[in-house]
Amino acid sequence: SSYLPAEQRYESIAYARCGRSGLKLPRLSLGLWHNFGGVDVLENQRALLRRAFDLGITHFDLANNYGPPPGSAEENFGRLLRQDFAAHRDELIISTKAGYGMWAGPYGDWGSRKYILASLDQSLQRMGIPYVDIFYHHRPDPETPLEESMTALADAVKSGRALYAGVSNYNAVQTRAAAAILRSLGVPLLIHQPVYNMFNRWVEPELLPALTEVGAGCIPFSPLAQGLLTNRYLQGIPEDSRAGRPTGFLKAGAITPAVLAKIRGLHEVAQQRGATLAQFAVLWLLRRPEITTVLIGASKVAQIDDIHAGLKFPPLTAAEITRVDQILAG
Ligand code: NDP
Repeated sequence: SSYLPAEQRYESIAYARCGRSGLKLPRLSLGLWHNFGGVDVLENQRALLRRAFDLGITHFDLANNYGPPPGSAEENFGRLLRQDFAAHRDELIISTKAGYGMWAGPYGDWGSRKYILASLDQSLQRMGIPYVDIFYHHRPDPETPLEESMTALADAVKSGRALYAGVSNYNAVQTRAAAAILRSLGVPLLIHQPVYNMFNRWVEPELLPALTEVGAGCIPFSPLAQGLLTNRYLQGIPEDSRAGRPTGFLKAGAITPAVLAKIRGLHEVAQQRGATLAQFAVLWLLRRPEITTVLIGASKVAQIDDIHAGLKFPPLTAAEITRVDQILAG
């Protein structure tokens, strides 16, 4: 390919140790849930991945079901990996997951060993790679013994199909139990991927302390609440936005007057420090020492540039943090 990555890429972002592991992750990671499916333009996907890597964003987050259609994000990523990043595989952290419905029948969903290991093999095939760096169980399965799901993750690692194991959407009790099982199998829990943003702070009381205790890192997803915590919806619902497009998971109905009032208040606080709301929302997450890397999504290269540029600002002040709490309390 004609892609030569920016030479200064490792000077443009900081890397943080993931929990008590040996792995460092860039303070921003890029997720491929939206904007990388069969319904999306491949050249825009290429541009997003290139810009991310040029900025030192070495971590790309996928899952078996990302698209639409399910699986197409892994296929597109695999194609772009071969075309643009073949010479840089050892500079990349590629993550995928299994846990949501992927194929028909009793073996295509949840947390059985049967599903988890078959799904990983399918993901590797779609991406055209022999191993991923991080393999996650995507959500807890109330019916499968946790030992079974965690043993499948550990065996994925021991068989060389993954380098590290993670969990997503597990609560604090489930996470402590998962970490203990994985530790006993010789494969420590590397990382937890929960939803965390100013509108959803469920992780704060119990999960974040549990992660510190077990030595796992934290990679919050939907840090911008799918785009709500940006300037995107200040003047209505743009056609090219996640809430405006038919394949978006953000529904226009989520943008109520009460939510908009909070967005406007937060936007003002961000503006007072010369930041965009998206930049401010990411800095707000990074105020917590448990956060290893913030997992953003982007539909446009300029959005990645914007958030990356925000990392150079000073951390949030105590006064700003208090003001955010007040606005969120309504
Ligand atoms: P965000 O909350 O970061 O939302 C991303 C959206 O915000 C973009 O698509 C864009 O919206 C808008 N945006 C981003 N940057 C800017 C900016 N600078 N200015 C204005 N708007 C901006 O994250 P996602 O919800 O996309 O989730 C991120 C990743 O997390 C996913 O790709 C996936 O990898 C992971 N994830 C994991 C889940 C799990 O269960 N483990 C569940 C959900 C996500 P627009 O498209 O409108 O331009």
